[in-house]
Order: sequence, then structure tokens, then C-alpha cells
Amino acid sequence: MQRQRRKDTAPERALRSALHRQGLRFRVHRRPDPTLRRQADIVFASAKVAVFVNGCFWHGCQEHATWPRANADWWRAKIEGNRRRDLETDDWLTHAGWLPIRVWEHDDMNSAAELVAAAVRSRTPTRSVT
Ligand SMILES: [Zn+2]
Repeated sequence: MQRQRRKDTAPERALRSALHRQGLRFRVHRRPDPTLRRQADIVFASAKVAVFVNGCFWHGCQEHATWPRANADWWRAKIEGNRRRDLETDDWLTHAGWLPIRVWEHDDMNSAAELVAAAVRSRTPTRSVT
């Protein structure tokens, strides 16, 4: 469990290496769109794919949700707020023609990278640089 938000978490780094091994190029910690007030962890601009690596604690993963006992209400509101904002962000992106992909920090990053790579390739009609 990681209660501190960091920019470059180990799962993010693992996913990025796996994506590099897939031969993909991307930007990190970018707003997919300037009018969206949230950053994605990994952005494929021309394919319009935005990847978010969700921490199990912060985003209330169903498998590893550990709800702290101390200040339980505060934590619950915080984590549920994060989940709500994730959904809003995904909605926003979908309406704007993007494909949001959520990867859990507990996911196998090689498999996640394969999924992301397939999505990016299917959304990149020509051999353009992403
Ligand atoms: Zn989890």
C-alpha cells in the first residue's frame, strides 16, 4: 500500500519499460487535452490513447482495498472522490474521442503493455509516429 502520491511509481516505470519493449513512443505526465484539467500517466497523442496507472490504495482497488480505520470517513470520502473523478475523466476523454485505459498497479505490466500496444496500433491507421 502506498499512501504517498508520487510521480514515478514503480508500476508506472515497469509499464513504461514494457511499452518501450513493444517499440512504442509516448509522452508521460501530460494532459491528453489542454482543456482537461487532469494528467494522464502515459499519452499517445496521435492514437488518442490515455493510460492511467491507478494505485490500489488511492483508487480503491476491489482486490486490495484496505480502508484505514483511523479517520475512516475521511479516507473513504477521499478514495471515493478519486474513483468518481476517474470515471468523470474517462467519460470526458471518451466523449472527446480518446480511449482511456486504466491499469492497476497490481496488474501484470507485460500483459498491460500488450493491451495498450494493441489499442494504440489499432487506432493508428498509418505508420505515423505516435
Ligand atoms: Zn489492487
